[in-house]
Amino acid sequence: MHPTATSPRQTQSFLIQRFAEAGIHLETRHGQNFLIDLNLLDLLVRSARLEPHDVVLEVGTGLGSLASRIAPLVAAVVTVEIDRRLFAMAEEELASFANVTMLHQDALKNKNTIHPAVQGAVREQVAAHPGSQFKLVANLPYNIATPILSNLLTADPLPVSLTATIQKELADRIVARPGTKDYSALSIWMQALCAVEIVRELGPQVFWPRPKVNSAIIHVVPNPAKWALVGDVKFFHDFVRGLFLHRRKFLRGVLVGQSREQLDKATIDDILAPFELSTDARAEQLEVKILIALAEAVRHRLNCS
Ligand code: SAM
Repeated sequence: MHPTATSPRQTQSFLIQRFAEAGIHLETRHGQNFLIDLNLLDLLVRSARLEPHDVVLEVGTGLGSLASRIAPLVAAVVTVEIDRRLFAMAEEELASFANVTMLHQDALKNKNTIHPAVQGAVREQVAAHPGSQFKLVANLPYNIATPILSNLLTADPLPVSLTATIQKELADRIVARPGTKDYSALSIWMQALCAVEIVRELGPQVFWPRPKVNSAIIHVVPNPAKWALVGDVKFFHDFVRGLFLHRRKFLRGVLVGQSREQLDKATIDDILAPFELSTDARAEQLEVKILIALAEAVRHRLNCS
């Protein structure tokens, strides 16, 4: 095993010294908060339940501390870093790992798409390791945590799990139950397709520099059987986002507004009738499975109209 896989490198004093030597000031806009509690870095890795045949994507290489822990455990790691200075430092750290592919770029092409170069590098590694499973393991930069998690659910290949530290407020939204203030389009999107779980809540003190908010380790397991239930995943995504643009409005009114061009009020009432909802029902009160069924009912009517 490589020495950095066990040595306690990423402490606060280590980071302060490394960045001072390199003359680097960290950028909050890039979510550059490093996990300095090494037990938690290990917990993040353990929570991913890695296997020797896995191909792991890490978004945000930083200095390579997480990648160097993961590399000895799996077939291949693809790690991507936007900051040229950190990329150069991580190159030194990770040079001895033949199974690590480093990419210097934005992990996202835009807020709706993982960068094709990242998807391409993952696809290449999956093809090079027959029988491998693709997993995301990352201490995600806060500013791109939502699009990374959300867009990976429509990526090819689809990850078998996503294990990441993210801001606690986002983790709460992902696991939120109907009728709570955190229940949102993101909760429904993620829960419709995956099993979601908060593994551990993390205070700001376990990162350096300290972020202003709490964080959490989240473990997400996409379930291909759920894709079949959802039907048209893209339609479902847009449908739910549309409903939650007006979360305080009654569901019937939102549906009438959303489909005004194609479905009349009588058709909307016809679609809603089997659900036996009260006239003042709102999307934010409905279980994920009801919203899936409703989206499918609307989609079928649109296809027939
Ligand atoms: N993985 C390292 C660790 O655990 O110590 C660093 C994690 S740090 C929270 C997030 C890293 O993501 C930073 O190094 C930052 O520069 C990088 N980053 C921020 N935005 C990015 C983007 N759009 N694409 C790729 N990397 C990004």
